[in-house]
Amino acid sequence: MKRPLSLYLHIPYCVRKCAYCDFLSFSCKGKEEETGLYIRRLNAEIKEAAGRYDDRQVISIFIGGGTPSVIRAEYIAELLDNIRSNYRLETDAEISMEANPGTVDREKLKIYRAAGINRLSIGCQSVNEDELKNLGRIHDFKDFVKTYETARDTGFDNINVDLMAGLPGSDMKKLAKSLRTVAEMDPEHLSVYDLIIEEGTPFCERYGKNTGLLPDEDTDRSMYAMTAGILSEYGFNRYEISNYAKEGYECRHNLVYWERGDYLGLGLNAASCVDETRWKNTSDMRKYLEKNYITEEKESLDIKERRFEAMMLGLRLTKGVNIRDFTERYKADPRELYGEHIGKMKELSLLEDRGGYLRLTEKGLDLADAVIEGFMD
Ligand code: SF4
Repeated sequence: MKRPLSLYLHIPYCVRKCAYCDFLSFSCKGKEEETGLYIRRLNAEIKEAAGRYDDRQVISIFIGGGTPSVIRAEYIAELLDNIRSNYRLETDAEISMEANPGTVDREKLKIYRAAGINRLSIGCQSVNEDELKNLGRIHDFKDFVKTYETARDTGFDNINVDLMAGLPGSDMKKLAKSLRTVAEMDPEHLSVYDLIIEEGTPFCERYGKNTGLLPDEDTDRSMYAMTAGILSEYGFNRYEISNYAKEGYECRHNLVYWERGDYLGLGLNAASCVDETRWKNTSDMRKYLEKNYITEEKESLDIKERRFEAMMLGLRLTKGVNIRDFTERYKADPRELYGEHIGKMKELSLLEDRGGYLRLTEKGLDLADAVIEGFMD
C-alpha cells in the first residue's frame, strides 16, 4: 500500500459567532459571492497540491470549520469530486464533516451522503436550553434532535455528537442530563470537551475575571469522572481524554493526529504536518483569495520535538504509547529517554508501564497536562 495521508479542508463560515469561539470563522451573512470564490480557490489549492502527493493514499478526509454545513451542499460535493479526481482515495476512507443544527435539512444531508460523506459530526454542546442560549448557539435542543434524526433517516450510520463540559452555571446534574439524553439517542461517537475561555471572545469579557461563575477545578474533575462513568454505562469506550466511541467507531482522522500520521490541511489557516515538516496556511482571507495559500515558513521538526510530540499526543490516548513503535520510529526507548520523569510519575500512580505501553492511569488522565509537561525537559 502507498504511504497514507489524511486531508483536512477548512470552511471558515458560520451563521454567526458563538460567544466562546476563537476558531477562524466568519459570519456568512451577505457573503454568497465570497463563499463561491473561496470554494473556487480551495478547489484550486486541492488540485495544485495533488502533484506533490501522488505517492500517497488518502485514508481520511475531515471537512471542518467554521460550519461546513452552512454553505451550499453542492460546494461540498464539488470539493469531494475534485479530491477523487486528483488523489488516490482509499475505497473505505473515512470522510467526516461537521454539521450544526439549524443549518442542514433533508436535501442537504442527501447530497452529503451521495457525495460520499460517511461520518457526520453534529455540534449539540448541551441539551439544556439556558446553556445553549448562553453559549450563543443558533439552535435549540429540538433543532439538534431534528438534525440527528434526519441524518439517520438519510443513511448516516456513523455519527459523532459534540458536547461541552465546565459551562458557566453548569453543575453535575445538568451535565448528566446532557450525557444521558444524547447517549440514549445512540450515536456511535461522543466528544466531550471542556470549555476553555479564549482571549478576545465575549466569554472572556464575561467570565475571564469572574472565574467564580465557572465550575471550580474539583467540580470540573468530578464532571470528567462522571462523564466516563455515564458513557461507559451506554457502551462507550473512552479512547482519548475527551473522546468516547462504540467499538470500532474511533475517529480514524483524529487518530492520525494523535499517532503523528501525515496530514495535509487545505483552506484558510489550515495546518499540515507531512514527513516531519509542519506548516500553516495563511489566516488572511484576502491573501488566500489571491492564491497566496501558504505564507508561513515551513518548520522541520528535530528529533527532540518529534519524541516530545509523540509522548504528548500518544498519552492522550487511553491505550497510551506503544514502546516498541516509539523505539523504532524515534530511535530510543522512551523508558530510558525519560526515565527520571517516568519513575516519578509511576511513584505518584499517574503513569503505568503495562503490556508494552506507557499510559496514563485514571488519576493521570485527570492531571494529563501536568504529567505531559514533564516530558518537555
Ligand atoms: S459554530 Fe463552531 S466554529 Fe462557528 S462560531 Fe460556533 S463554535 Fe465557532
